[in-house]
Amino acid sequence: MSWEAPLAERVRNLKPSPTLAVDAKAKALKAQGVDIVNLSAGEPDFDTPDHIKEAAIKAIKDGFTKYTAVAGIPELKDAIAAKMERDYGLKYSSDEIIASTGGKQVLYNIMQAILDPGDEVIIPVPYWVSYPALVELAGGVPQYLMCSADDGFALDMDGLRSMITSRTRAIILNSPSNPTGAAYSRDDLEEVTKLALAHGFYIISDDIYDEIRFDGVAPENAASVNPECRDRVLVVNGVSKTYAMTGWRIGYLAGPAAVVKATAKIQSQSTSNPNSIAQKAAAAALSGPQGCIDVMKTAFAERKAYIVDRLRAIEGVKCVDPSGAFYAFPDMSAFYGRKHEGGTVTDSLSLADYLLESASIACVPGIAFGDDRFIRFSYATDMKVITEGMDRLEEALGKLK
Ligand code: PMP
Ligand code: GLU
Repeated sequence: MSWEAPLAERVRNLKPSPTLAVDAKAKALKAQGVDIVNLSAGEPDFDTPDHIKEAAIKAIKDGFTKYTAVAGIPELKDAIAAKMERDYGLKYSSDEIIASTGGKQVLYNIMQAILDPGDEVIIPVPYWVSYPALVELAGGVPQYLMCSADDGFALDMDGLRSMITSRTRAIILNSPSNPTGAAYSRDDLEEVTKLALAHGFYIISDDIYDEIRFDGVAPENAASVNPECRDRVLVVNGVSKTYAMTGWRIGYLAGPAAVVKATAKIQSQSTSNPNSIAQKAAAAALSGPQGCIDVMKTAFAERKAYIVDRLRAIEGVKCVDPSGAFYAFPDMSAFYGRKHEGGTVTDSLSLADYLLESASIACVPGIAFGDDRFIRFSYATDMKVITEGMDRLEEALGKLK
């Protein structure tokens, strides 16, 4: 008898992460021998620095291979606290910090911990692909705040004020942003803290790209610009991007003890502690020499300058100069309505498909980030790949009539 495995509604309505999906497709095509230029995933191409790997090897050799405290080992929590003080001037005690299996799990736990069904979370658009799904999985309702490339993707403050209701539980700020690379100004951050204090909502500050900035501004977030708001700010960060440690899966939350304790309960009933060996590696990353960040940042800055110049040189392409992270997010809507041999480009999805099929360029359509006019190109890959990608892009766009 045939059996159609029944599934819960929450998963029937859930789409897989589009960034991971495009990356998987690009890798599969590459494995089949297709000469793919992969500008899709936001994953540093650098290897994890040696002193971090050594800490993990030592952990294994020392037999540090058992369960740890659910919220993370003291050594890692101390390293996180030291980073928060070093970079933000903010002091967090041990019960205000939890380490989890990547920043994504931190965000998942937060949504589960703070949202009741129907609670609203304000998400500035363009947003990182997983925010809406993470909110919805917890029964929350995303409220989208449109932000414009004409303003460099700054927060629309009037729009924000008009969206706040009695159900507003949180706003997510991601600065520098995936996918735009934009960073919020100090004034805007401060303004959001005033609204959070006045209306009683959390600011979820996704600071995962805080160290990858090209505008000379030191890391700052809602809690550092207005310490009065500290207990409303849930700081999310991790080692994936800063230390080229995407596969190690360590992220963390710094915030009010009550929220940290609630996420620890969720973690204790779901994943338990994050990987013990990776915790040792993350502690070494955060407390060891920080020179590796500058090496990677210098390379990202050089690639950013190159890719933005190349994109802007193509007629019809408009691209905001990113302040940080490792993405270029150009407006490609001038090409919509143009034809190629296989059909017509009508939106970001059909443009991304055309680029993959005709030029073997993997990139992520803007619709995945909530704005269909754009395409995201990750430059967390080497200059040769970026150069080849831009050559191919120029040629493929030139063929559209
Ligand atoms: N937030 C943003 C904005 C990201 O781009 C990522 C990277 N995928 C994450 C969170 C989560 O990263 P990770 O789970 O690897 O720590
Ligand atoms: N955050 C990265 C990206 O946006 C990795 C993929 C993911 O976690 O979604 O490409």
